[in-house]
Amino acid sequence: MMASVAMMMRAAAATTIQTTPSYSHLTARKTMTPSARTRKNHRMDNNNNNNRRRRRGELLQIVSEGTGRFIVGGNWKCNGTRESVKALVEALNKNVPNIEKNCDIYCCPTFLHLPYVKDNLNERFNVCAQNSWVEADLVDPEHHYDSTTGAFTGEISAEMLEDLQVPFVLLGHSERRTLLGDTDEIVGKKVAHARYHGLSVVVCVGETLEERENGTTFDVIFKQLKAVAKEIDDREHSSWGSSVVIAYEPIWAIGTGKVATPEQVQEVHSKIRSWLAENVSEDVAKATRIQYGGSVNASNCADLAKLSDIDGFLVGGASLNGDDFAAICNASSVHYKAVGR
Ligand code: PEP
Repeated sequence: MMASVAMMMRAAAATTIQTTPSYSHLTARKTMTPSARTRKNHRMDNNNNNNRRRRRGELLQIVSEGTGRFIVGGNWKCNGTRESVKALVEALNKNVPNIEKNCDIYCCPTFLHLPYVKDNLNERFNVCAQNSWVEADLVDPEHHYDSTTGAFTGEISAEMLEDLQVPFVLLGHSERRTLLGDTDEIVGKKVAHARYHGLSVVVCVGETLEERENGTTFDVIFKQLKAVAKEIDDREHSSWGSSVVIAYEPIWAIGTGKVATPEQVQEVHSKIRSWLAENVSEDVAKATRIQYGGSVNASNCADLAKLSDIDGFLVGGASLNGDDFAAICNASSVHYKAVGR
């Protein structure tokens, strides 16, 4: 049963997303159980190699831009009535002929509206859940594979999203981190568990205004990234680029109308990529798509899209308007032109 769902998901993903997520990590997880010692040795070898290369200065010329397809997400947050969701779906569907073919798109309705949206939204748009549940006290990485369905009132599990053939899940959004208690560690575990169930994940990272002002932006973001990287097994790095998207969302820019400057965004994105190159691998750094999110709209998206290290946007407020969201998706062409791709 599980195998046939995974096969159906693979088939669905292959038809809707051109950078088809690889689900090989799913099979690998279920069939391979190397000891913790083997994994630790592997990581130490990687670290030693990176340290040697850093001393030789090789890692200073780290990749400065990604190689993935532009990707735009619409986070509908806790918005919508049956009527307004139907109207938004219709507005988005009407825009399909106007949307460039060169980007991947996902929309995140509430869990309640997810089945309706999945059945009625044109398949040019992927659906994405806004969260999935995992137990906080899962400390042993091997337990990521335990079921998270059961006596957890009010929660939605990755298993259920897999069953519904939802291809993406948004994890670690700052509203969940700040208002609903998602710690870095829980976000890491959610990522591992969702990937185990064949979902591609969009992981949000970002600093508060206070953290930016006191100069700890990179400490905060690297800690958030580390908690995710720690949970993703070395064996799964080959599928990381196609199944993990990072959304850099400075908290002070979300829903405030205050957009980060292109310089601020470029600096953070290129440092995230350097961090990935040093701490995961250069291949992962190149392949990982890094979105910017924070008050992006149809008027400011083009300037940001010109940046070499922006691989797309995560959009909140403006994603609730079909025409605006379509215009933001089309910033993909501005990006490709600017970076000569
Ligand atoms: C978001 O919620 O992820 C977001 C970026 O919101 P907004 O675009 O409204 O700032």
